[in-house]
Amino acid sequence: MFDVEKIRADFPILARQVNGRPLVYLDNGASAQKPQAVIDAITHAYSQEYANVHRGLHYLSNLATEKYEAVRGTIARFLGVADEHQIVLNTGTTAGINMVAYGWAMPRMQAGDEIILSVMEHHANIVPWHFLRERQGVVLKWVDVDARGHLDPQKVIDAITPRTKLIAVTHLSNVLGTKVDVKAICDGAHEKGVPVLIDGSQAAVHMAVDLDEMGCDFYAITGHKLYGPSGSGAIFVRKDRMTEMRPFMGGGDMIREVSKDQVIYNDPPMKFEAGTPGIVQTIGLGVALDYMMGVGMDAIAAHEDDLRDYAQARLAGLNWISVQGTTPDKAAIFSFTMEGAAHAHDISTILDKKGVAVRAGHHCAGPLMDHLGLTATCRASFAMYNTRAEVDALVDALELAHELFA
Ligand code: PLP
Repeated sequence: MFDVEKIRADFPILARQVNGRPLVYLDNGASAQKPQAVIDAITHAYSQEYANVHRGLHYLSNLATEKYEAVRGTIARFLGVADEHQIVLNTGTTAGINMVAYGWAMPRMQAGDEIILSVMEHHANIVPWHFLRERQGVVLKWVDVDARGHLDPQKVIDAITPRTKLIAVTHLSNVLGTKVDVKAICDGAHEKGVPVLIDGSQAAVHMAVDLDEMGCDFYAITGHKLYGPSGSGAIFVRKDRMTEMRPFMGGGDMIREVSKDQVIYNDPPMKFEAGTPGIVQTIGLGVALDYMMGVGMDAIAAHEDDLRDYAQARLAGLNWISVQGTTPDKAAIFSFTMEGAAHAHDISTILDKKGVAVRAGHHCAGPLMDHLGLTATCRASFAMYNTRAEVDALVDALELAHELFA
């Protein structure tokens, strides 16, 4: 039974005040707060179980290695992946997508080859592909969303030509909340022999994900949005793509042997994990994912759907607010502008005075902002610990902002 008050009690920061008001934290799309279990795990790892991993033969190194390596299995379970060797541990989505761009895409793409992107990608799933455009003459092809913010999978498939080498799309828009039918994209793309990379940074937070069923080639997640530490994350790389991929970064842990004349790499996935990793961050991520699975992904999704419906109804009552992204099954992410007034930054400053934390700006989604004809929006993004009362607090604060700016 999902009990939001019980969950809130697990997140100590939610009990604090900001500007003399109870904190209403609605900036979860940027980064989520951490449960006590994660905070305790970090403290415990540093105070009782810390050493470098993989290399040592002493007790603490073996213990830290065991704890760290166990997270690979936790992530595999969380993502519905049977073979955990397809999980590369890293520092987050940006690291994962850059690894694929440098290690897999660059060596196999030439001038005139094409990468298909949706217009609602985050810069982390745009800029690495611009590197290939700048350096190798790869062509970026953009697929628009409709007026509701829906991405038609067929439009993505129809954009494929014989020069298409990759499709890179988000599973859930960080601005619009749109969920994308990535299974349909994977099925259609694979029929035409085109690999698919999915940016799962937002989706994995809000819904159950089953990658073995989805069949994508690459799926990136980032720990700090999953109630885990910043500097943790992973990317799923399907076995055949792992064999094709070259290492992006070189250094310790990704090698078996190094001499003056040659280097022999470790087996994947370690071949792609150079240097001392975020040991404690990764251990914390494992605890965060266990926490989420303990609550239940379907229960989290159901609670957030309720918040979405309630927020949608309340915001619809403010006829001076314009919300971007209106697909019916969207996530509880609301990007909006206020009629006749105020830059998004000014609105967010007023909300902050009321203890309500939202994001304001372009949300690292330049092409989408161009598509919408906007330079900035305010974004309220909800998490499993938010409540209907917090939706009300947001609406009250918006009414105040409107009074001030009208
Ligand atoms: N992709 C999406 C959809 C995001 O929302 C974010 C974070 O804002 C990222 C990628 C980048 O994640 P990170 O900065 O943790 O690498």
